[in-house]
This record gives sequence, structure tokens and C-alpha cells, in this order.
Amino acid sequence: MASIPRRYGLPVFALCSVVMVGAAGLIARQVASVAPDGPTWSLAATGDAIITRRVSLYDDPPFLDLVKVIREADAAFTNLEMSFFNLADFKGYPQVEQGGNWFFAPPGPLEDLKWMGFDLFNQANNHTTDWGVEGMLETSRLLDSLGLTHAGTGMTLGEATHAGYLDAKKGRFALIGLATTFTPMSMAGDPRPEVKGRPGLSGLRVQRTYQLEAARLADLSRVLAALRRPVPDSATESVQFLGATFVGGPESKVIEKTNPRDEERILRAVRSAAKQADYVVVTSHTHEPGNSGTEPPQFLIDFARKCIDAGADTYIGHGPHQLRGIEIYKGKPILYSLGNFFFQNETIEPMPSDMYENFARDSETLAGDLYDLRFSRGRSGHWHMSPESTIGVSPGPYSMSPVWYETVATVAQFRGHGLVELKLYPVEMGHKSPRGQKGTPRLANAQKGKEIIDRLTRLSVPFGTQIVFENGIGVWRPSKAGATAQQ
Ligand SMILES: [Zn+2]
Repeated sequence: MASIPRRYGLPVFALCSVVMVGAAGLIARQVASVAPDGPTWSLAATGDAIITRRVSLYDDPPFLDLVKVIREADAAFTNLEMSFFNLADFKGYPQVEQGGNWFFAPPGPLEDLKWMGFDLFNQANNHTTDWGVEGMLETSRLLDSLGLTHAGTGMTLGEATHAGYLDAKKGRFALIGLATTFTPMSMAGDPRPEVKGRPGLSGLRVQRTYQLEAARLADLSRVLAALRRPVPDSATESVQFLGATFVGGPESKVIEKTNPRDEERILRAVRSAAKQADYVVVTSHTHEPGNSGTEPPQFLIDFARKCIDAGADTYIGHGPHQLRGIEIYKGKPILYSLGNFFFQNETIEPMPSDMYENFARDSETLAGDLYDLRFSRGRSGHWHMSPESTIGVSPGPYSMSPVWYETVATVAQFRGHGLVELKLYPVEMGHKSPRGQKGTPRLANAQKGKEIIDRLTRLSVPFGTQIVFENGIGVWRPSKAGATAQQ
């Protein structure tokens, strides 16, 4: 384990571990015996910003009070799951390969995110190249022109992995962004002496093998024979089918392993950033195992902890469009998914012809009908789970379940490199609002706020994280068993 930097020459934490078993696997329960010391600072964090409309004109208290929360933090993060450009000047093209939709907006909504107080932006996700590399680069240029810090993409893999830096009053922040869920052609490449590199995102590739018990592998062999495909000679031979690898084993399960080269490249960047900045934030876009899953995959749990061990102060996850649990690991927060923060995905317009082909057959259909077809009939955002699934029951289409429209904005208060308080502000995005209003975040009312915090509390139980509901928000503080004992 890499040592945690002591940038203020102070002891960080002496740790003893008590191992307990949670639903998400083995959980190391960390107890700190030394009080965190050093300057205090705060970080606000939110999930996916799918923002397609101006919001700086709103003046209602639930919206402005949320803006105040974001502005008051020393740094504020969001996942920019969009490209921003003026379509009339745009030199690129909508790509065949996209993240499930072609997310883009004119520059105005991004300017409003700056107005709200956001200054740290992740660009690596499954929508990074919906409008090609040019859409990604236009977005980076716009972020640069607004003086905003961004990470996760670049002209080469090295640049995409490199931290973005923010010099703030309380210290220098480094942001390292990556995606585990991304379209195959969006990953950046490094140059060689004889060939140039490739622009794109920093990816952490996950290798999947499907292990089947003998009877199930025999079933697969029968399917292959029926389709006149090569059948393996024995139950121990691996089978390639539909682009996936199946192997025999004692039980049926999916085995996921992160690519070791990707992992080491990113951890190297974390270790470097911990020397170059005062505070390090690592963030990943991780839909796995799927949007309906409320538990993070084991590979993400392992990787997030490695990032903390390498010197990160916070790990922020997003991707599945809904909340997942929170872990406090060695005095640092790991937010496994912050869900949506803006979810204005019914006002993305115009859309390429492919989108119309997916949902409507005639050329007369326009955006209003397209989104009726896509969302009102539940053709999108609906995941059918088998009864044996261990990752939860699908909440249903985006239009049907409030889960996609309920989240938290977190504010982590640190002293030095130790978390001393984590505030969870419940946020609601207008699930039942008309299309022109839907998807804009506001602080939730008391009843809805309690429901959201209760849900997040339940999701955090497997990590041993205790959250209390106080004055309308969720709060985590070090436990009373010692001045700074951590969950
Ligand atoms: Zn995504």
C-alpha cells in the first residue's frame, strides 16, 4: 500500500482494521486513532449533469438555496455528461457509436453551471464522443475559455489521464477523471515515435468472463449446436459466443477484472497529483453492473480504495443515474454513485436521423413526438431483471420512477486529509413536472428529503456508514468511539 502523503507534516491516521462482511463483499472497518489536523476545506460533489436549458434565471428558494450550497464550498464537482457547441458552427458529426443517445447543448447551460459555482468537471463517460472527437474537443475548448478545470479527456491517453488543477483559496485541487463505461472507439491512445496518438478519454477497461456451472455450460453447448456454431470439446474449454467468453466452473457468475495496465496508469497519475496538489479528487463514470443495480461492482470498490491508498482524498462515482451507497475508507469518502444532478434529457434537440429511426418509422416525426415515443411508453430506461438477480429490481423506465429524479448534493468538510463531516443535501429534479421544467435540481421538501436520505442510508449500510437525518439533511460524522473514529 502506498503511503498517504503528509503534505502538512502531520500524522494522518493510524489505522487498525476490523473486518466485517457486508452485502457488497468484505468491508474493512477503519478506526482512526489520531485526530485529523491541518487546514479545513470543503468539496461539493454532484452526479451527472445532463443539462440542456438555461437555469440561471430561476429565483425560487429551493433552487437558489441549492446554488448557495454549491457556491459556498471551496471546490465543486459535477460529471459533464454532455458535449457543448453551437450546432451552426460545428465541424464534427454525430457518431454511429454513442452512449445511448446524442447528448449535446449550446454553450449557455455550461455557462450556467459555472454561474452555479461548479469548477471541477469530469469529461470521461459513455457520452464523451456522441458527437465525435470534435464534440469532445469543442467542449474542452469551451471549458478552457470559461476558466474551468476539467479532466478525463485529452489529445492522447497521457493527457486524458493527467490531472486537471484548480488553484483555490484553500489550496490546490487536482481532479483525475476516468470512465469504466465508454464506447470502444472513445478511448484515447498514446503516441509512438512513428505514429501520433489518438484523442479521447481515459478508460479503465474491465475484462469480463462468464463462468458457468457444468449443467449451464452444457445448455450453452446445445444452443451453439442448434445454431450450427462450433461446440467446445469439453466442459473445461472456454467458449466464445456473442463476443463474450464463457468458461466452466463450480458456480455460475460473472468475473470482472480491471485491466492492470490501465489501473497502474491511473494510480501513477494519482500518486503524482498527490505530490503536485494539496487535495486530490478521483472520479469515475461506472454504470456497471447496470443502471438498475444499487450495489457498486466489486472491481469499483477495490479500485476506489486503491486510489485512496495512492493519495486521493475523495472518490466520486456516477453512471447508473441513481444513488448508490457511501463508504468512509481510511477517513476519506467514497461516493459510489451520486445519480443524476441535472436530468434534462427530454429537451435534447435536434437529434440525428438515427435517433428517429430507432423510435419512429416516418420522416414527419419531430422532437415532441420522438420524446413521447421514447419516454411515455417506457421504451427507454427499462431494465428487466431476473427474479434471481442480486442487484435489485429495476425501478422501471425513467418516466415511471422518481428514483431517477432524486439524489443528493454532498459537501465534504475536511481537516487536512481527514473527513470531519459529510453533509448530504437531498435534491429533487421534478419527476412529475412538464417536459420544459423537468430535470432541474432543487432542494427537496422535508418529506421527500427524508425519503431520499433514508434510502441513501439503507444503501450505505453494507459499508458500515451511519448517516443521521438532521435539520432536513443527511449527516455523517466520525463516531463517538474516540474523537475521530471513522466508520
Ligand atoms: Zn453514463
